[in-house]
Amino acid sequence: MSPSVIVIGAGIVGCTVAHQLARSGAKVQVIETRQPGQGATRASAGILAPYIEGHESAALRSLGRRSLDLFDPFIAQLRADSGHDVIYRRNGTFELALDQADAERLRALSMALSADGVESRWVPPADFAKHEPLASPAALGALLIPTHGFVGVISITLAAAAAAQKFGAHFRTEIGAIRVFALPTGRAGVEAGGTSWEADHVVLAAGSWSSQIQVEGAEAVPVKPIRGQLIQLQADPGAMQRVIWGPTGYLVPWPDGAVLVGSTVEDVGFDENHTEEGVRRLRAAAVALVPSLAAAPMTNVRTGLRPRGPDDLPMLGRSAVVPGLIYATAHYRNGVMLTPLTVRLVADLVFDQGRDPALRELDPARHGRL
Ligand SMILES: Cc1cc2nc3c(=O)[nH]c(=O)nc-3n(C[C@H](O)[C@H](O)[C@H](O)COP(=O)(O)OP(=O)(O)OC[C@H]3O[C@@H](n4cnc5c(N)ncnc54)[C@H](O)[C@@H]3O)c2cc1C
Repeated sequence: MSPSVIVIGAGIVGCTVAHQLARSGAKVQVIETRQPGQGATRASAGILAPYIEGHESAALRSLGRRSLDLFDPFIAQLRADSGHDVIYRRNGTFELALDQADAERLRALSMALSADGVESRWVPPADFAKHEPLASPAALGALLIPTHGFVGVISITLAAAAAAQKFGAHFRTEIGAIRVFALPTGRAGVEAGGTSWEADHVVLAAGSWSSQIQVEGAEAVPVKPIRGQLIQLQADPGAMQRVIWGPTGYLVPWPDGAVLVGSTVEDVGFDENHTEEGVRRLRAAAVALVPSLAAAPMTNVRTGLRPRGPDDLPMLGRSAVVPGLIYATAHYRNGVMLTPLTVRLVADLVFDQGRDPALRELDPARHGRL
């Protein structure tokens, strides 16, 4: 018999999980306080770069590597099921050296990555200027990692929501989940919008807000909101080719000439407003990487609250307290990069025994009674 699933939260995690479970035959219902694609998702830069983000974490690098390998088929399926176009480029990232210390660090990193079987190349200044003529002439070279790339995060999320609905998923928006509880049958219940629903499985994918949903008998999920601001500038289409990452920020060049500039990292609670200071810093970061962006019009400012757990890794796995509950949260700075892997692990928990070794590493119980 096909399982029933309630997904709480319609960010990139909730929508893509809902799509995969619905296409695999589950009866899916999504509960979302606002509309799909809010939360951290709406501000996300969508960079797929485990060998930059995972500089300091071997666990994150290996999860990111696995997820990156799943991206091509994941996007192909999403495009086919939704009929939506989804921005997706795998043309690599440039990590820029603007001083001698950075140049030495990145050269050493390139050698370490190559020794680990990861394609990477140190590009000296003259060659780099041919690839990205608008980039700062102060650059002392750049590390090219060709397997990296970027996606349009809102386009993925809305495509997944549309595809999920084609497979029968039902979205209940403008309703917040308040409580999750165990039923004697082993199923789980969710209290939301003045009523209760029950299902074989409940997936808690409410990002930074996961801590506010009471799970009966369990501790509050230890996720903390970390605000990120991102601005969007308009340049000429094709002016830049690849993601450019520097010491104070990064640029993501979309095919239509939009350039996303990120991002701030701020511990300010649940405040989703942007600030003048944040916008000023991001503009300065953009100009340090590509000086001509000083004159580029700003077309948008977005903020999002990244869900950060105690060890910066997701909490993904079955609750030890409410058997029907699956946590899929705390993706912090890497929720987009880790999306295809997250979807696969949640599907493994719903349809199979949840034997994937990554689930041991990501077990929410490592952080307490969850
Ligand atoms: C500026 C910025 C740049 C980023 N850049 C990157 C990047 O380049 N690469 C990368 O991999 N990641 C990046 N991230 C991180 C990534 O965006 C997040 O990890 C990811 O969006 C988390 O998705 P989520 O679905 O778990 O949470 P969210 O997107 O926050 O979604 C949670 C949803 O739950 C809903 N909700 C809240 N409470 C309830 C409730 N009680 N009941 C029902 N629904 C509820 C919210 O309204 C929201 O829609 C970035 C984040 C920011 C802010």
